[in-house]
Amino acid sequence: MNRLVVVANRVPNPRERGATAGGLAVALKDALSRREVMWFGWSGQVGEATSAEVAEVTVGRITYATLDLGREDYRHFYTGFSNACLWPTLHYRLGLAVFSREDHAGYRRVNQAFAAALAPMLRPDDTVWVHDFHLFPMGAALRAQGCRQRLGFFLHVPFPPHAVFCGLPRAEELLVDLAAYDVIGVQTEDDAANLRAALAAAGEADAAARVAAFPIGIEAESFTQLAEKAMVKRETERFRQSLVDRALIIGVDRLDYTKGLPQRFCGYGQLLARFKAHRSKVTYLQVAPVSRGDVAQYRALRRELDEWVGRINGQHAEPDWAPLRYMTRAVARPVLAGFMRMARVGLVTPLRDGMNLVAKEYVAAQDPEDPGVLVLSRFAGAVAQLPGALLVNPLDPDEIAEALDQALTMRPAERKARWEDCAVSVFRDGARAWCRAFLSRLEGANDA
Ligand code: ADP
Repeated sequence: MNRLVVVANRVPNPRERGATAGGLAVALKDALSRREVMWFGWSGQVGEATSAEVAEVTVGRITYATLDLGREDYRHFYTGFSNACLWPTLHYRLGLAVFSREDHAGYRRVNQAFAAALAPMLRPDDTVWVHDFHLFPMGAALRAQGCRQRLGFFLHVPFPPHAVFCGLPRAEELLVDLAAYDVIGVQTEDDAANLRAALAAAGEADAAARVAAFPIGIEAESFTQLAEKAMVKRETERFRQSLVDRALIIGVDRLDYTKGLPQRFCGYGQLLARFKAHRSKVTYLQVAPVSRGDVAQYRALRRELDEWVGRINGQHAEPDWAPLRYMTRAVARPVLAGFMRMARVGLVTPLRDGMNLVAKEYVAAQDPEDPGVLVLSRFAGAVAQLPGALLVNPLDPDEIAEALDQALTMRPAERKARWEDCAVSVFRDGARAWCRAFLSRLEGANDA
């Protein structure tokens, strides 16, 4: 079978396995156990200048081919154009986007450099699968290097309506770049419709026909096992004892302005203020590891959240009860899975999210005999696969409070029925199935 070349901004570390490896790496490894794979992209290291030579490490059938980024390229390509401009725009937050010609030039330069480094490594029958918004121009840059291989692209984040996207300076250039791919995958039918309309408006009607939705999933069974195993760990037991029979609400997100955290904290405050029966009876744990600390908006958000935590605990705490526990460091996945299983409510309220895997992980972590309730933003891509969730508008703190009250007082039979409605897709449409669906579209009859 021909080789698959996966191009992603961050290439997984060959030493990372199982619980610590990224979702995409695990999904590909499982789906493609019989196939030769090359990962190509950034090593995660920053040096003086972007490396001219590709470093290669081969483990079994997988080769990891990486480049270090130079300091300037890191600043303009990664922090600048990718994280401070494309990320907010694609999440419908044009007002937060910071555009600079220098960042834009850095973005194109790195994509060109990656393509120039990859092109000579490609075999004629390779299938090339490029991932995410850091690398929109990669396909066109490979074509310019003379590459004729099958080229697929998957966008992990949302694609906004054309009226939003075209507010981005030079937006049309990115659409023309996308037209170089044979298949252009997105997470939801809404994203697909938005992208098709944008491509058509840019005069790329042919490319619009190559857009399709492939909702990504998780390896649900292994997450369930993690959660089950966690129940006998010391950390879990200590945490359980600290709750002294109070119902647990859990939130798990990167500290990112797309996740709706201030509105969520405000909603929880409304719950305590309006539904007084829950006072002293509930604990909300929010785990929000700091991310992208070198982008100004993320630092501002962190300060804003610190204030919210102080306000809510200051206003509602009792000497023996802190209503909100908040931590900004990462928690190991096996521990987190156990915390999710213990939680009566999973609170997932992004303002906009490509998919949101935490929502699916929460469902997978539950005990089917006594499951908790998922409170989910109607603007997460995962909504389509989670019909049993309680949906909220994440901008409406009162709606969040009402949904929390409903979840906390829900009878076991309804909890079970709602969980079963969510579990169908979470366990059936996993990461492996997603991988196979995309590749079989890209390769026609070829089975991955
Ligand atoms: P995003 O890709 O925007 O961060 P997702 O919800 O799609 O959002 O994916 C986040 C992934 O990172 C999930 O697999 C989740 O379990 C993991 N994650 C998020 N927060 C933490 C944390 N505090 N500790 C460990 N893993 C986390």
